[in-house]
Amino acid sequence: MQNMKFNTKTIHGGQMHEETTGSVMPPVFLTSTFAQSSPGEHKGYAYARGTNPTRTALEASFAALENGTHAFAFASGMAAIDAVLRLLKPGDEVIAGDDLYGGTYRMFTQLFQKYGLEFTYVDMNSIENVTNAITANTKLIWIETPTNPLMKIADIEAISAKIKDENSEILVAVDNTFATPYLQKPLDLGADIVMHSATKYLGGHSDLVMGALMVNNEKLAKDIHFIQFAAGAIAGPMDSFLALRGVKTLHVRMQRHCENGLKVAKFLDAHSKVDKVYYPGLETHESYAIAKKQMNDFGGMVSFKLKDESKKETFAFLESTKLFTLAESLGGVESLVNHPVTMSHGSIPEKERLKIGITDSLIRLSVGIEDIEDLLNDLEQALNA
Ligand code: PLP
Repeated sequence: MQNMKFNTKTIHGGQMHEETTGSVMPPVFLTSTFAQSSPGEHKGYAYARGTNPTRTALEASFAALENGTHAFAFASGMAAIDAVLRLLKPGDEVIAGDDLYGGTYRMFTQLFQKYGLEFTYVDMNSIENVTNAITANTKLIWIETPTNPLMKIADIEAISAKIKDENSEILVAVDNTFATPYLQKPLDLGADIVMHSATKYLGGHSDLVMGALMVNNEKLAKDIHFIQFAAGAIAGPMDSFLALRGVKTLHVRMQRHCENGLKVAKFLDAHSKVDKVYYPGLETHESYAIAKKQMNDFGGMVSFKLKDESKKETFAFLESTKLFTLAESLGGVESLVNHPVTMSHGSIPEKERLKIGITDSLIRLSVGIEDIEDLLNDLEQALNA
């Protein structure tokens, strides 16, 4: 069916009933290899590092959600980012946002810098910061928006248009993990590559680790497929099945994540113990106007700082929440709380962290889809602990 609305695509996008039995969900093809009738003659599947039918079903869904022509499911979000960087060669330069998931920063600085890639970090709140950093060797712009953990916003459409105007060779890639295609679709906004940690909202149930890349360009798809096949960081069939099941409720989950996220952000913003709230849906957010233009809603991620900046007070809060589980990760149905300095962003040197404002008192919430009254009561009692 052409032109399905997004809420229909999450369930039916790219999906067909299985041919032999009519199975509504794709079978989990737990096989590493496929029979050939003659050397090289097979039914489209030869070896499961290349393709597996359960993964194919998931990738068709992923492509449909981001309005891409192709999608690739990887063993983790980091494996997906790794594949993007493998499109480059030594001497190439990457311009990235100055606030990134800690693991992304670690991969850039501690892995790929060793192989001759150069990275420049800029505040992508301003397009000029991006364009001023471009050199003859720039080959990739890496955008995270909203950023992890400071919820900064970059204008994907404006940056992509400016880059393409001046140099069509430069790729624009967007880590869309926090927003999901429910909130924003980077390919529609002019980006070349969308990346996800599908571990988070796409999977949605904290039961798998997975990454994804989506593109709408044949050449890029061919290159990424080659890298994925050659390097081998594929998503397995069982995880593919789970992710496909998760994705079918993405729209209803996201709707509740957004409702709860805004209520939590407003509650914290009005609280006497809270110094600052980072949430793009608050009108006081520095990029509220861009977020409103670019996103359909504002998501379930909320960061905040306590007025009392002591580690003691911050840890008292982190150890006292009952529904918000203190744990790494985000984007599942259950609410989680994270301390970026010691957890998700522990690999960023203190000097770099402090430069952009990731201090000891910064707390990141992944607001789940529980009853909002219970969530607010939990935060209130933890703030008073
Ligand atoms: N990108 C963002 C924004 C993330 O938050 C994460 C993980 O937290 C990743 C990428 C890495 O994904 P994964 O943990 O699935 O490898």
